[in-house]
Order: sequence, then C-alpha cells, then structure tokens
Amino acid sequence: MDKRVALVTGGSRGIGRAIAIALGQDGLFVVVNYTSNEGAAAETLAKIKEAGGDGALARFDVADAAAVDAAVKQIGTEHGRLDVLVNNAGIAIDGLLMRTKKEDWQRTLDVNLSGAFHCCKAASRYLLKAKDGRIINISSVVGEQGNAGQVSYAAAKAGLIGITRTLARELASRAVTVNCVAPGFIETDMTAAHVQGDNREALLKQIPLGRIGAAEDVAEAVRFLVSPKASYITGQVVRVNGGLLM
Ligand code: NAP
Repeated sequence: MDKRVALVTGGSRGIGRAIAIALGQDGLFVVVNYTSNEGAAAETLAKIKEAGGDGALARFDVADAAAVDAAVKQIGTEHGRLDVLVNNAGIAIDGLLMRTKKEDWQRTLDVNLSGAFHCCKAASRYLLKAKDGRIINISSVVGEQGNAGQVSYAAAKAGLIGITRTLARELASRAVTVNCVAPGFIETDMTAAHVQGDNREALLKQIPLGRIGAAEDVAEAVRFLVSPKASYITGQVVRVNGGLLM
C-alpha cells in the first residue's frame, strides 16, 4: 500500500465519520471502525469513495482487547502498514454521582479510556515503523473542566489527556506524534438530546462564537494534526469549542 493507512475508531457516525471523510479526501486509506451500526459505517465508506478516497470497514468493540488486537493485526497483514490512529469511539452514560451505577462507570471507562489504550498498544508496533506516525485522541471540554452529571465520562476524557502526554514522550524518538483534540458542544447523535429548546439557548450563551459546533469543525483540526505540516506538534490538547473554555 503506497497510501498512508489510518484507523478511525467510531467512524460510522458523527465526529468520527467527518474525520474519516477528511482523511480520505487527503489521500489516506481509511479503515472505518464501528461496533453495531453497519449501515452507517457503510455510508461513511461510500462518502469517502464519493470524495475520491478509499477505505475499508472493521467491526469491533474497542473495549475488547483481543478483538482490537486481531483487527489491527488484520490491517497490518492486509495493507502492510498503519500510519495513523484516531481514537474517537466514545459513549456517554450520564448521571449524578449518587445515581451512577458501578456498571455504567465501568463501561464508560472501558470504551472511552481502555478502548484508546488497547488501540494504542496494538497499533504502536506499526506506528513505530511508519515515517510520520500519528495518534489523535478525541477528549472533551468535559475532561478539562468537569461537568455535573458526567463523572465517568469526565474521568475517561481526562484520562485520555494523560495517555496523550505519556505516549507523546514515549514515542517521540521515533517521530510518532500524539495529540488530543478536545471538542466543546458538537451537533451529533451523542448531544442530540442536550442541544434542543431551552437547553440550546442556555448553551449558546456560554459559547463566545455563538453556535454549536459541527463534526467538520473537529475533523479539520484532526486533518491538520495528521498532516506533515503538524510534525513538530506533540503532547498537546487542541480545543475546538467556539471559545467555551479558554
Ligand atoms: P456519536 O455520534 O454517538 O458516535 C459514536 C461513535 O462511536 C459511533 O461511530 C459508534 O459506533 C462508536 N462506538 C461507540 N461505542 C463503541 C465501541 N465500544 N467500539 C467501537 N466503536 C464504538 O458520538 P460523537 O458525538 O460523534 O462523538 C465522537 C467522540 O467525540 C466521542 O469520543 C465523544 O466522547 C467525543 N466528543 C463528542 C462531543 C460532542 O459534543 N458530540 C464533544 C466532546 C467530545 P456505532 O455507530 O456502531 O454505534
């Protein structure tokens, strides 16, 4: 494979889909991961191809270390390389501390944080061989400033910043850069229930740029961090939040 190969976790919908399309447009071969929504994943791949790019689908649960290992090995065997990993797959199970069940805490950590760990570990042997390896972790404004009702999600997203800074140091000698992108409020399935009616008005008042973000706003930051132009940027948290947190 002459093209750089990228794995985008949770690429079937929302932010992951926009990232997958952007990287496809930039000439990368994009492996679109998803866990259940095959139709949406196929639609992402079709959009990549419509835009002149190429890619493949990979169904696995990022929380399942063995499944991640097998999928990454398959990418290595089929394409001979893996240059870019975007850890985007995520879920939010919201609830105030006293109402948060242990199982919900655990699943949120398993998908958002352990999922990224498993993918970094499995991909690292290929990334170290790549000329210009890249890891991008999708964190959140909530990981930096917290949010009442999101204790598990905030812990996972803050943890991603720790993984980012640690791996940025561990992998730097082999020119692999590791960065976080921390979105604010972005209009996707995940936030659909939160950005309606009165809630939307209240949110807009907190955002200096006066709008909810689009998935493409996040994808453009990832596109830049993946490009050769960003080769001297590592260990950073790039905020894409309309000024919500400065
Ligand atoms: P979304 O629309 O709900 O999409 C979530 C994606 O993750 C889907 O592709 C889903 O696959 C995949 N996924 C979920 N669990 C998975 C698992 N166990 N293994 C593999 N894939 C899994 O979410 P989004 O809003 O685009 O969010 C994407 C990322 O950005 C998440 O990490 C989220 O925390 C972060 N983020 C979002 C916002 C926001 O305002 N939207 C703000 C800050 C950070 P299926 O289609 O198969 O279910």
